[in-house]
Amino acid sequence: MSDIHKNAYIRIKPREYLEWHANNLWTRHHPPMPEQFEFGSSIKTIKEIQMYHGGDLLYILEETPGIWREDCIEEIKRIYVCNFCGERFRVPSLSIDINAKCPHCNNDNFIGAGKPNNASQSTPKNGATEL
Ligand SMILES: [Zn+2]
Repeated sequence: MSDIHKNAYIRIKPREYLEWHANNLWTRHHPPMPEQFEFGSSIKTIKEIQMYHGGDLLYILEETPGIWREDCIEEIKRIYVCNFCGERFRVPSLSIDINAKCPHCNNDNFIGAGKPNNASQSTPKNGATEL
């Protein structure tokens, strides 16, 4: 996850994974905690990255409790449609304002730091989450 950095958007793995991890891999440091389960599958930004001794990366995410292991989150990639030639290409990170060079026509596309479309629906604060 080399593209993961502060303020990057990531997706937390599904609740089922978090629960499975907590029940089966609990001997590892910083397993997912029950209060984190409800955030499964939601999109958050990285507030802080810490290095655990041993070299594992740990993440503090906005609006979530506790510390997240690297294997409990995943990088978001999105497909971007070139403004110039209309071809699709992958953008490595959602987080920052970047110029992404289209691999098809070589033009720079400015890609802003807009939040992913489903981000506003991803926080199950009031129980049910609908897509
Ligand atoms: Zn292009």
